Amino acid sequence: MLSYSTQLIDENDINVVIDVLKSDFLAQGPKVEQFEQDLCAYTGAKHAIAFNSATSALHGAYSVYGITQGDEVITSPISFVATSNMFVELGATPVWCDVKLDGNIDESKIEALITKRTKAIVPIDFAGKPVAIEKINAIAKQHNLLVIQDAAHALGSSINGDKVGSFSDMTIFSFHAIKPITTSEGGAVLTNNEKYAKALRLFRSHGIIKKQLWSSDMVSMGYNLRMTEVAAALGSSQLQKLDTFIQKRNKISDYFDNRFKNEKLFLTQKLESNTISSRHLYPIILNPELHCLKEDIFKELQERGLGVQVHYRPIYQNSFYKEKFGKTVLPVANDFYLSEISIPCNQTMSMKDAEYVADTFLDVIHKYSHRGCSF
Ligand SMILES: *Cc1c(COP(=O)(O)O)cnc(C)c1O
Repeated sequence: MLSYSTQLIDENDINVVIDVLKSDFLAQGPKVEQFEQDLCAYTGAKHAIAFNSATSALHGAYSVYGITQGDEVITSPISFVATSNMFVELGATPVWCDVKLDGNIDESKIEALITKRTKAIVPIDFAGKPVAIEKINAIAKQHNLLVIQDAAHALGSSINGDKVGSFSDMTIFSFHAIKPITTSEGGAVLTNNEKYAKALRLFRSHGIIKKQLWSSDMVSMGYNLRMTEVAAALGSSQLQKLDTFIQKRNKISDYFDNRFKNEKLFLTQKLESNTISSRHLYPIILNPELHCLKEDIFKELQERGLGVQVHYRPIYQNSFYKEKFGKTVLPVANDFYLSEISIPCNQTMSMKDAEYVADTFLDVIHKYSHRGCSF
């Protein structure tokens, strides 16, 4: 099965992990610091704070900023649940902003959602396509809000040659197995703000400041959300290959774009000419007349070896959110869920695999489009 996204582990990745296992430090030591420096060097951000997952990193970012009971956070429902779970956990309320056809937050709809309670805007770079961060930052600045960017898909994406990672107040990356690079599980917050960086380091490790010898002091509430040496060593090794991974995924995506350019039954994600996407996903947006056939299409694609997936069910449609916050309907996000299928596009695929994916996808779509939906 060709997966919509997957890891690629080579000999060097394996060797650096073995070296750590034979070393004196398994938990925290020089590898975590090195990985954080590598992330700063790669993205241009001043501070990187590694966590055991992006979910922990989001929890840290929202916490050190002081998001709390009664606050509102404007965010997109087309994301993984962790994006909003972690501020809901702190007592804040999600204010859902609709998306555009590319799956990114519709920046033109943000301002109307701002109230006296709004604390932050949390956009997600869907599939790796950078959000319209300049416009979002301008809105935030005008209303004195923070922008926390969930860039779990977008390590290596760029605008005008500048890498995602230092565009917003805090940027979150995920190193889960299927993300642009992996540490097996892992995440990080990147920021240029020293105050947040310090607070994040405390938050991830019991709120303890080490002084000298045995003396240490716990100065704020904290957890154990630390990344391990094993994970960090893998991260640094993976990061060296990120650009080649992205080149590969872009080569496959460009091939798909070309194969699909005259198709009328679906849309693909269009990128601005000054941006590069990590191409974490290759999303397909089916026309409404195919919505009722998506289950059949999905099943047949899987039967024919395409490890497709749907990204995402709008977060507000999950039982927990419906029960806690009531029913929400956003027209584009609702339709996006009915329309979207992510097809295989990853760095382990050959161009022959890509050809098979495009051939099979077109074959299946055209076959079902003749059936139509019976209303
Ligand atoms: C994967 C993902 C997360 C969570 O990342 P973990 O490292 O698995 O905790 C958060 N947000 C988005 C958009 C994601 O894709």
